[in-house]
Amino acid sequence: MSQFDWDDTMQSILGKTAVDVQHALNSKKRTLEDFKALISPAAKPYLEEMAQLSSLITKKRFGNTMHMYAPLYLSNECQNICTYCGFSLTNKIPRRTLTDEEILKEAAFLKAKGYDHILLVTGEANRTVGVDYLNNAIQLIRSQFSNISIEVQPLDQNEYELLASNGLYAVLVYQETYHREEYKKHHPKGKKSNFDYRLETPDRLGKAGMHKIGLGALFGLEDWRADSFFTALHLKYLQKTYWKTKYSISFPRLRPFSGGLEPKVEMTDTDLVQLICAYRLLDEDVELSISTREREVFRDHIVQLGITSMSAESKTNPGGYTIDKQSLEQFEISDERSTETISQMLKSQNIEPVWKDWENDWISAMP
Ligand code: SF4
Repeated sequence: MSQFDWDDTMQSILGKTAVDVQHALNSKKRTLEDFKALISPAAKPYLEEMAQLSSLITKKRFGNTMHMYAPLYLSNECQNICTYCGFSLTNKIPRRTLTDEEILKEAAFLKAKGYDHILLVTGEANRTVGVDYLNNAIQLIRSQFSNISIEVQPLDQNEYELLASNGLYAVLVYQETYHREEYKKHHPKGKKSNFDYRLETPDRLGKAGMHKIGLGALFGLEDWRADSFFTALHLKYLQKTYWKTKYSISFPRLRPFSGGLEPKVEMTDTDLVQLICAYRLLDEDVELSISTREREVFRDHIVQLGITSMSAESKTNPGGYTIDKQSLEQFEISDERSTETISQMLKSQNIEPVWKDWENDWISAMP
């Protein structure tokens, strides 16, 4: 990754022409150069064609299905300063970490809604929500959910191995931005300020044999095109190196939160559609995920164009489902519709919501 310069990459993307885009569209096996063409301004007039192709490939590979998951926020304690997050250390909010009883109550609520894929989320506070806390949380709920993922601080390889042996299926770790200097500006304090440790996290996950690794950048911090190229580059490297692992890509755009940060670079809805289609044209197998950060209308349309997994009715505050509904969120949710409404929306578009696609037999048999 270090042999790719940010500015050169930007120039290369912006220099792509209609001929490059047509070449990318007609290729049987697309390269990262094709991906650059597909995310370039030159591809905008081809968006309809890209969308049709992306939809076709997705349906062929995944059928008319949508994998459903829900986040379960366990803690908003955090020792990091991240300029874009409501849980940032200097943000004066009441801090809360769920107890065993509270975790089970929140989990029961989501289970009753039909969720079988659960994403545990915490800030980075090693004394309260370190590996022992996460391991305990996984063991508490693993008999109820066949698919448990986490989005927490980066860990060491042996820690991932421990969590995987106790039932962890996937880890989402977004680089936020691949622009080293901008990264420093947005992460001035705490362990997260170590760009390289975060960048190398998917490698530690691959070595630990994690079933699935989720990548992404937070759009708004830097140019979305360059950040997406570096994410795709990261993906291709990981797929080649840890070929037994599955991968997913998420597309978070900066959302309002307490103490908010304005996006440096705007990413429009059309840009996001273009990017999602470009990923699908680059890679037929990668899971593409959209969260409730996005607006209803956008989500209703994008489910046909390449997305394979989505969340619904999410709360981004610990205890947000049943315990402390008013506590401060990590960021504002945009699509607040209920699980049932989202499910109906999908069915009305001939898409079957999938609640379970993985059986952790050996986990449910564990004590
Ligand atoms: S993004 Fe994560 S690490 Fe940064 S302040 Fe928020 S919870 Fe903490």
